[in-house]
Amino acid sequence: MNSYDVAVIGSGPGGYVAAIRCAQLGMKTAIIEKYSTLGGTCLNVGCIPSKALLDSSHHYEDAVKHFEEHGIDIPGEIKINLEKMISRKQAVVDQTTGGIDFLMKKNKIDVYVGTGSFKDATHISIVGEETTEIEAKHTIIATGSKPSTLPFIKLDKERIITSTEALKLKEVPKHLIVIGGGVIGLELGQVYKRLGAEVSVVEYMDRIVPTMDKGVSKELNKVLKKQKFKMNLSHKVKSVERNGDEVIVKADNKKGEEVTFTGDYCLVAVGRHAYTDGLNAEAAGVKLTDRGLVDVNEHLQTSASNIYAIGDVIKGAMLAHKAEEEGTFVAETIAGQKPHIDYNLIPGVVYTWPEVAAVGKTEEQLKEAGVDYKVGQFPMRALGRSRASMDLDGFVKVLADKNTDEILGVHMVGARAADMIAEAVVAMEYRASAEDVSRMSHAHPTFTEAIKEAALAATGDRALHI
Ligand code: FAD
Ligand code: NAD
Repeated sequence: MNSYDVAVIGSGPGGYVAAIRCAQLGMKTAIIEKYSTLGGTCLNVGCIPSKALLDSSHHYEDAVKHFEEHGIDIPGEIKINLEKMISRKQAVVDQTTGGIDFLMKKNKIDVYVGTGSFKDATHISIVGEETTEIEAKHTIIATGSKPSTLPFIKLDKERIITSTEALKLKEVPKHLIVIGGGVIGLELGQVYKRLGAEVSVVEYMDRIVPTMDKGVSKELNKVLKKQKFKMNLSHKVKSVERNGDEVIVKADNKKGEEVTFTGDYCLVAVGRHAYTDGLNAEAAGVKLTDRGLVDVNEHLQTSASNIYAIGDVIKGAMLAHKAEEEGTFVAETIAGQKPHIDYNLIPGVVYTWPEVAAVGKTEEQLKEAGVDYKVGQFPMRALGRSRASMDLDGFVKVLADKNTDEILGVHMVGARAADMIAEAVVAMEYRASAEDVSRMSHAHPTFTEAIKEAALAATGDRALHI
């Protein structure tokens, strides 16, 4: 039987990063993955393929709607080749997952393909084409998550689908009904909206992306409505039925009236849940919470002291970069180091266009905590860079402590917000004040000037360009 210092179960961004860091720290490491490709949800059916389709559909929309105003005439009709678009996406996925194979070899990590199942706290059986058993001093559970649904919905995976199927449709829906106005619903909704589908979002709460800052939800809602998304907020879905090629969704609106949506596809995007099927956690003494998450302490250690858990399978935001930070954290903890994660500084991004990005506290959270704060907000349309590229929607909002001027949260909607948010993370990591950021030179013309201007506004109504 092969013996390891560390076995990692699951090869998503949490698992593979944990394995690499363990190997870097000199530990003999194995990784176990039940699918034949490494990379987990993120690389196979999550972050990477969704961004590949967002990029392709963005190019298409630009060609159809915006090239002309830039003085670019394309003779003849511009058409979508969906099959090619999907196969390009798959090529990107294949290349990226292949990169993880390379990294495992480079770091001398043994890869086992099969479902990992605890026999006890130090032995794992791996059931794949063959059954193997390994011994591990420490194990890191990184088994991720799966799409959630509603109890009355029967996902047929043809027309009533999750994100996984939405990444490989064979036709552009005529009318896509999206249940859930969260990250997945809006990102994948926008892909098919750009490709010509009518898109109706049916959201239970009174705003889209309800966990983000309210101002951000409002601005994104406004922009998406301008892009002809049909937004149905405060709607409680009560049935989803398939009738041939049709899907019929019934919901109660705010007034309690029944509203019926008829489309040809329905994307169910109401969140994801931790995945521990087949893991046999109890055999190792690993306890789950009432919600099915692996229960961990502040060291991400489970109720079995030699077993840790990271990523989507534990509490917290279900984000690839959060899982990665936890992978490194646990590897270093096992190696006897004292790592640290500031969960307040894990940024959140929605890759619609305009993009949405945020870090730190929202206004609602600051109000609830009774913090005395001030707001500096700057609209993207006042930037020369935005006018040059005609990306006029959105704003940057800086929230700072009223007494100390320390930045407490940064929220933005706008072109390239996903990349810009890194500046706010760095500033907040070093506990910068709004004045610190406002006094740093930002290259002109760039979208980042909106951060400087919002910081100036927060320091005392000192924005220069509005
Ligand atoms: P996962 O990536 O889910 O990996 C877990 C792995 O464990 C899987 O490969 C699974 O097969 C394997 N496994 C499970 N049980 C066993 C077992 N018993 N034995 C062996 N293997 C097992 N996050 C972002 O930060 N940015 C984004 O842009 C983004 N886009 C997304 C788009 C979509 C459509 C979706 C669905 C998700 C997206 N996410 C994004 C979320 C991101 O994918 C997850 O947060 C991330 O993948 C979690 O990583 P993980 O390592 O915890 O688990
Ligand atoms: P989500 O939590 O972002 O959104 C789910 C939405 O569905 C919420 O707005 C919620 O109010 C709504 N909802 C819940 N029950 C409902 C009901 N009965 N009827 C109508 N609406 C209902 O979840 P998601 O979009 O499914 O994404 C799952 C996870 O994947 C998220 O945690 C997210 O962090 C991650 N993800 C991240 C990215 C990114 O970082 N860009 C992209 C995709 C997914």
